[in-house]
Amino acid sequence: MSKINTIAIDIGHNVSFDGGAVGLRTEDSLNLEVGRQLIDKLRATGLKVIECLPQSANSLVDSLSKRVQAANDGHADFFVSIHHNYFEGAHGTEILCITGGRAEEVTKIILPEITNLGFTNRGVKDRRELYVLKNTNMSAILIECAFCDSPIDMNNYSPEKMAEAIFRGICKAFEINGPVNNTSSDQTNYYTVVKGDTLYSIAKRYGTTVQRLVEVNDICDANVIRVGERMVVR
Ligand SMILES: [Zn+2]
Repeated sequence: MSKINTIAIDIGHNVSFDGGAVGLRTEDSLNLEVGRQLIDKLRATGLKVIECLPQSANSLVDSLSKRVQAANDGHADFFVSIHHNYFEGAHGTEILCITGGRAEEVTKIILPEITNLGFTNRGVKDRRELYVLKNTNMSAILIECAFCDSPIDMNNYSPEKMAEAIFRGICKAFEINGPVNNTSSDQTNYYTVVKGDTLYSIAKRYGTTVQRLVEVNDICDANVIRVGERMVVR
């Protein structure tokens, strides 16, 4: 498949008027964890990544249209929206797109990478009516990574492994050379600080402590972290 220069990654929900599902875990937090790690991995290959999650929104449509606009304005070659599903009794992974074109071809490469982690394959679904799929100028997919209300999916759920699987799929689909540090990926996570983060919120998200983050990153003042700063989380 033809190579790409710019990819749009849309971290689903996570803004006013556009909250995600709440199951055993909240969809918002899962989308953030998977999405941010995916963005870090893609950037590490040198690919240009457009983050589509808006800072604010005054309605659901406003939230969705800002995401689409970010991708369209940035002339992204491909659009990936990260979500987690919610439906009592259901479990597994599905990818939504407008079938019959490039989006479906990419989906068929990414989906097996995720189901190889042990998630049930719920297949590719045509959801051409979805706002972000319909209004983006480039091929677009929406990954429903897993069900946030399913004990089967959420037991031992690893956002890191999910991000890695999606990353592997994207690299295969677009012939991107991955970064060189594959061997230690289960030991070290990297996190890029965004607006609103504190060491406490980062520690909480990754199941570690402020003290540990201070130690491994040689942080002098735990109250001062900079947006864009890349830190080791473990
Ligand atoms: Zn969602």
